[in-house]
Amino acid sequence: MKILVLNCGSSSFKYQLIDMNGEVVLAKGLVERIGIGGSKIKHVKTGIEPVSREVDFSNHTVAIKYVLDMLTDPEYGVLKNLSELSAVGHRIVHGGEKFTKSVLVTPEVISAIEEVIPLAPLHNPANIQGVRALMEVLPNTPNVVVFDTAFHQTMPPKAYMYGIQYKYYEEDRVRRYGFHGTSHFYVANRAAEILGKPIESLKIVTCHLGNGSSITAVDDGKSVDTSLGYGTAEGIIMGTRSGNLDPSVMVFLMEKLKDPKLVNEEVQKKSGLQGISGISSDLRDIEKAAEDGNERAKLAQDMLVYDVKKYIGSYSAGMGGIDALVFTAGIGENGISFREEVCKGLEFMGIKIDSEKNKVRGQEVVFSTPDSRVAVMVIPTDEEMVIARDTKRCCGA
Ligand code: AMP
Repeated sequence: MKILVLNCGSSSFKYQLIDMNGEVVLAKGLVERIGIGGSKIKHVKTGIEPVSREVDFSNHTVAIKYVLDMLTDPEYGVLKNLSELSAVGHRIVHGGEKFTKSVLVTPEVISAIEEVIPLAPLHNPANIQGVRALMEVLPNTPNVVVFDTAFHQTMPPKAYMYGIQYKYYEEDRVRRYGFHGTSHFYVANRAAEILGKPIESLKIVTCHLGNGSSITAVDDGKSVDTSLGYGTAEGIIMGTRSGNLDPSVMVFLMEKLKDPKLVNEEVQKKSGLQGISGISSDLRDIEKAAEDGNERAKLAQDMLVYDVKKYIGSYSAGMGGIDALVFTAGIGENGISFREEVCKGLEFMGIKIDSEKNKVRGQEVVFSTPDSRVAVMVIPTDEEMVIARDTKRCCGA
């Protein structure tokens, strides 16, 4: 069974073609600048040199048709014809409270995704665009939608409610939703597999740390708390997002900037590592500048490490201890000194690391010492594989 996984943004999308027989990635690629001029595609057939082309993609449908042609191309393709494609899995950012798991696309499902557009005004419309384009080009191929929020729907109300009047939840659905759910799900389950224990017996803190970041408490295989909330700026300091703020700071910004749009831009795009350091949103640049003596870069670096430590501590307290701590995504998979700094001083809670074993980038490793009570691990995330597996399951295969 061959499945196409699509992660569609407003002017770009990523794709992967996966053969579920052995879970092998046959091809993948990235299409950028759709509808805004200068559009291009980078296509990689596993095992041969990548191809990059500049092609005029006026909309998503045109771009998807081109990708399907690439996938069936005699030289760069991996399919004899499109009838070999069994289904398409789509990443959808927000499923509100309605979607607790992945589902086959029907007209009702599309309407329900549209209903929660106010909760993800930038992402959901772009995600739906991908689904619609696929339905237009391949009307007989089943589509499955997989939600970033679904894994977190197991959180209890004490974790997802905010301490404001209850009516805002009842009338407007203001609550914590959480994001990066497919990633947290994947690494938590992979951690259990690596440890050779049933996930139901484990309490795990998963740290998805990239440009956007979130930390999740996983108990009994279920998300019981997560650091991103109603929107995508809560929790730890991120590349350009503020992380937690006193509500009074939001009131201050509102009075100073006088426009909710500007306040949103401030906390989403001008804050975080970028805002504090004034240098970059990328931890590599921050680490380099801090090493060269830049004090604001050092402050940004320290704030990130401190935030992550605080979440590990609070989620461990919430769950009554932890068995495993997992790092994933760009910073989690590659930040060697960052991981070392986060774990430093956590020996009191049974976290002891082996600095030599920690010296890896982008590969699975358990880097705690054999006598550490908590297994500390790096697990590269694989959201596409979760989407492909769910797509297969929803198609009854
Ligand atoms: P992601 O959003 O998961 O692609 O993560 C991107 C982020 O990973 C970048 O902005 C960097 O801050 C971070 N990153 C990537 N490589 C490294 C590295 N070698 N050391 C520290 N941070 C890294």
